[in-house]
Amino acid sequence: MFQEFTGVQRIAYFSMEIALSHDIPTYSGGLGVLAGDTLRSAADLALPMVGVTLASRAGYFQQKIDGMGRQLELPDIWDPARFALPAAAKVAVQIERRRVWVGAWLYRIEGLAGGCVPVVLLDTDLPENSVEDREITHFLYGKDAAYRLKQEIVLGVGGVRMLLALGFQIRKHHMNEGHSALLAMELLNRHKRPKRDLRPGELPYDAPAVRSQCIFTTHTPVEAGQDQFDYAMVERIADGDFMDQAEVRKLAGEDRLNMTRLALNLSDFVNGVAKSHAEVSQRMFPGYEMHAITNGVHPHTWTSEFFAGLYDNALPGWRHEPELLVRIDQMPDQALWDAHSNAKQRLLDRVRDMTGRVLDPALPVFGFARRMTAYKRPDLIFSDLERLRRIAAKHPFQLVLAGKAHPNDEGGKHLIEQLHRHIQELGEDLPVVFLPGYDMRLALDLVSGVDVWLNTPLRPLEASGTSGMKAAFNGVPSLSVLDGWWLEGCIEGVTGWAVGNALGGNEGNDVEDLYRKLEQQVLPMYYGDRAGWVAVMKGAIGKNASVFNSHRMIRRYATEAYML
Ligand SMILES: *Cc1c(COP(=O)(O)O)cnc(C)c1O
Repeated sequence: MFQEFTGVQRIAYFSMEIALSHDIPTYSGGLGVLAGDTLRSAADLALPMVGVTLASRAGYFQQKIDGMGRQLELPDIWDPARFALPAAAKVAVQIERRRVWVGAWLYRIEGLAGGCVPVVLLDTDLPENSVEDREITHFLYGKDAAYRLKQEIVLGVGGVRMLLALGFQIRKHHMNEGHSALLAMELLNRHKRPKRDLRPGELPYDAPAVRSQCIFTTHTPVEAGQDQFDYAMVERIADGDFMDQAEVRKLAGEDRLNMTRLALNLSDFVNGVAKSHAEVSQRMFPGYEMHAITNGVHPHTWTSEFFAGLYDNALPGWRHEPELLVRIDQMPDQALWDAHSNAKQRLLDRVRDMTGRVLDPALPVFGFARRMTAYKRPDLIFSDLERLRRIAAKHPFQLVLAGKAHPNDEGGKHLIEQLHRHIQELGEDLPVVFLPGYDMRLALDLVSGVDVWLNTPLRPLEASGTSGMKAAFNGVPSLSVLDGWWLEGCIEGVTGWAVGNALGGNEGNDVEDLYRKLEQQVLPMYYGDRAGWVAVMKGAIGKNASVFNSHRMIRRYATEAYML
């Protein structure tokens, strides 16, 4: 069943999470959606790639919210057999000196023009393994550090072995974030050099040969966010299989095994996911050449049927060549507004079904949805409720929120509770709803159905951010802090609006600026200048959707990294 894929050399794209479809819960958020969009664009453009990830049979988690606004986490079990074909191959990795068997499923991403990208889902839930080992590929980002290290052994080491067992010919290995960096160790092991050729201090491996096969995309602008493991634990769990400890320390850090360091040291091409993120990463890791390839989103996946219909009529070919969207300025305003109104009504229907609250389609709706965690500052807009009430009294508006907090992120869970308290306090003065269970489907309804997409992260922690790009495909402008992609995408009053300034300010300035923009520019324009508003919608589509898409992104990876 893999023969159709093994005849040509492929780029192997490794990611701990890949969002394959809204009903397959193998993703937690932005990183997984980006991985899915990358492979969907590769399939559309018929680029020879293969994805490698874990089966994550118990998913990330299902989110429920109780009466106190507290997040409850339920397993989100899925059955790979419903969506993917079992592969006949089996490989082994060594974990805690046991042999752990790894099986695989084949999922197919079908492109829109006949291309197809296979995705290999690694699975240790096999009868040969102990109960404990069968769980290694169950919980995405679950349990503790030891569990994570076992998952990363399966992903990196098991992944390389599985591709070989299935007969794939791999031209390059692309690590989407550091979780899969052990793949480079496995490649080193396959490039041993005879002892007699070594000079003192030299690695007994052909590191340049491995580097020429590896590409690393970093996503984390702070050291604390990177995967790091104590060597005592590494010795206990991973020893004996993939590498000598002394060699590992030279490549991955003396004190702890840092997956980012390891990936940096064993990749010839390293990049950040937006221009500013590459600069921040360059300062964090002087001595490595850091490229910038700004993220993008998949056109077909992130455009509502209402806007896809418009584009199909006026700009045929846009799904293959989203650059065509620069011509959106020729579209009659009314057609655009009608498509938007349909998408908005669909969101408001969804809000009513999920919460029982009826929002008014005549009033502007602002959307904020993403991982609930401190640096994303979902509570920033609620900093001064009195001020917010006064703004809403003059120009009424509504707010729709969504997002999951990681089960171990107590701060993030606390934020969800606080948001629910604000919802209560504001009551009908400013209708705010929180939609539980943020996933790809809800994300599409939100980014297409709101009037303005809001994002207020703490600089410089938003490496890229992609949900604002999804909004742009649906003619929804952003009101965002100048961080990540928005530093490149924001043209004030043309594609949306900036909060704060590019140099970064403090919390107080961001809040003040957010309120001032709302009160003096965004809301008055919505109510008083329909033509001006539709021009901004067109600005978002023509200037941003045409650029910040994953077709442009993958073409850049192809010409700048994969073809090296
Ligand atoms: C796009 C997306 C994200 C990422 O959103 P950001 O604003 O970039 O953080 C997270 N979760 C889901 C379900 C998404 O679709």
